[in-house]
Amino acid sequence: MRIIAHLDMDAFFASVEERERPYLKGQPIAVGADPQGGKGRGVVSTANYPAREYGIRSATPIRKAWELSEQARKKGLPPVVFISSGFRKYGDVSAKIMSIVFSHLRGVPKNLFEKESPAMEQVSVDECYFDLSFAGSFKKAEEIGSKIKKDVVEKEHLTATIGIGPNKLVAKIASDFEKPDGLTIVPPDQVLNFLQPLSVRKIPGVGPKAEEKLARLRVRTIADGRKLSEEKLKSVMGKWGSELYRKLRGEDDSPVVVEAPPAKSIGEQETLPEDSLSMKVLLPYVERQAKNLIGYMGKEGFKTFRTIVLTVRFADFETVSRSRTLPEPTGSAETLRRHVTQMFFPFLDRQENPGKKKIRLVGVRVEKLL
Ligand SMILES: [Mg+2]
Repeated sequence: MRIIAHLDMDAFFASVEERERPYLKGQPIAVGADPQGGKGRGVVSTANYPAREYGIRSATPIRKAWELSEQARKKGLPPVVFISSGFRKYGDVSAKIMSIVFSHLRGVPKNLFEKESPAMEQVSVDECYFDLSFAGSFKKAEEIGSKIKKDVVEKEHLTATIGIGPNKLVAKIASDFEKPDGLTIVPPDQVLNFLQPLSVRKIPGVGPKAEEKLARLRVRTIADGRKLSEEKLKSVMGKWGSELYRKLRGEDDSPVVVEAPPAKSIGEQETLPEDSLSMKVLLPYVERQAKNLIGYMGKEGFKTFRTIVLTVRFADFETVSRSRTLPEPTGSAETLRRHVTQMFFPFLDRQENPGKKKIRLVGVRVEKLL
């Protein structure tokens, strides 16, 4: 029997900020781009629950968030506290959470001689899947789930929501079921009942477009969707129809992918105050980021990098990354600056930018750190 869990931190970035500044407790908080008095660009990364009550969510444009905050203020409600994201700090907290989860897991040895490490798959900065099959029952798995939650509160002063089910799909939907601070257990014999009343949008992969297509067939809930044949779903959704047919039934056999710990990387990116295609405007950003990265590397105890990744987002949000791996590791700021500049120039002309689109965001990352 498979028992799979999904952990999702509650309003992660905002909760980390709240934890570090207790006077923010209970205030609406939006972490993300600088709103610059309503003229800012970029988006919200996370909004805590009070801010969500104003209609602010992740990916809300920062200007819109500012407007909603102003509206609330005019009604006599507290205005939103805007905090620029400190992504590196969140990465550190994330690593601690992941290691708490890991410490509660047990590997299943393949045979007497080989020790296997526990199955855990981190899918984003604040989310992971892990395999609790070793627990042997959903009851035992629930106990482990609540121990993990308790540990996260005690050690990190943050809350997590966990969903447990017979596969990743059900675990993921279950972790979304009761947020924040939830623990939802869906054993195999309850899967169909649990899914029945939920909106089809709860199925990972069903976005606004698919929702619209399904709505035209009068499908709103998962129960509605289950009335359609596999053929019908395929004719409407294309190849994905078969997969959706199985997902509507809570079926999923995708494995928890155990990955080697990702090679360390450090990066920085910035949305420009105004879209631009001027070298004079853009180059200083790229150069400053390159310089900052060398500083961050030092603070983290790394001496060298080998791979450089440059990311450019155009005004129409098309995002392109180019990477370059050097023949030898280096820690030289000048080498990094030179390569990053060389990599950046093609984005100003036809080579990488045939449409002469203006640039909205630039970012530099160094990888293969030692
Ligand atoms: Mg989360």
